[in-house]
Amino acid sequence: MAHHKLTGGNLMEAGRLQIPLTSFYIGIEPSVIRLLDKTTRFFVKVKGRPVLAILSRLLGRLLPTGEVITYEQATDFIDAISVLENTEITVGPCICQKALGKRNGTYVKDLFVLYGAEAFRRADDDHRDLTPEEAKALLHDLHEEGLVPSFFACMHSKGWAYVLCHCEKEICFPMRAHLAAGGVFSPGPDIVTLDKDKCTGCGICVDSCHFGANSMVNGTSAVSLSKCYGCGLCTSSCTGEARTMIKREDYRNQYYPIELVGKGSTSTVAS
Ligand code: SF4
Ligand code: SF4
Repeated sequence: MAHHKLTGGNLMEAGRLQIPLTSFYIGIEPSVIRLLDKTTRFFVKVKGRPVLAILSRLLGRLLPTGEVITYEQATDFIDAISVLENTEITVGPCICQKALGKRNGTYVKDLFVLYGAEAFRRADDDHRDLTPEEAKALLHDLHEEGLVPSFFACMHSKGWAYVLCHCEKEICFPMRAHLAAGGVFSPGPDIVTLDKDKCTGCGICVDSCHFGANSMVNGTSAVSLSKCYGCGLCTSSCTGEARTMIKREDYRNQYYPIELVGKGSTSTVAS
């Protein structure tokens, strides 16, 4: 059975080493996360954020880094890969919750996709295959829970994109490392806009943003666009419909397969 990877706007058969190497990494990832978590806490405590920033960028060349997307973009991706003959979606426990022994909200929420699904099957017994419809239902629930969909890949390569995670700022190690030192997440295709005239002053957007982009100024919402990574969480929860997602002008496509998703279900599947 063929397992696929992303190549530009197409789905191609994964390389021979991709599955065993990714499977190996998935096996050691809990230990890696525990070690990096301790290292990050140490440097934050001793005010060594510049060292942490260098470390983050160096390790990011090899270890997984993510691109933030919206719930809608995540479901569009699931639709785009539903053309595959065999579903390549597997769900398993949140690797950060598992590694750090902490629980908050949904536990089984890491969606391994394409060749990553097979890599995860080989690395961990604790998995369940999903149909595209089941995956989209889970994405909806995770969006309602207020989690950030993020497309992760190793070695800064779209061809090594293998998992769709749902991040938050309390337990998620990549999110905490990014907020402390940067270098883990890149902004997605969209960015928020705000119509202050419609703002009701409810303040929900401040709590819904894990990147700290929103604040209240004199009873009205304000947004720091440089901190907006384009997850869309504040838009869907805005009580005044004051927020809208628009295309990011300076978008640099890191991992999200925007060409493939743009093709929709008519995409060519090469194998
Ligand atoms: S969620 Fe919407 S209405 Fe509420 S403060 Fe934020 S922008 Fe204003
Ligand atoms: S400002 Fe809104 S869209 Fe941007 S990162 Fe924060 S919650 Fe997501």
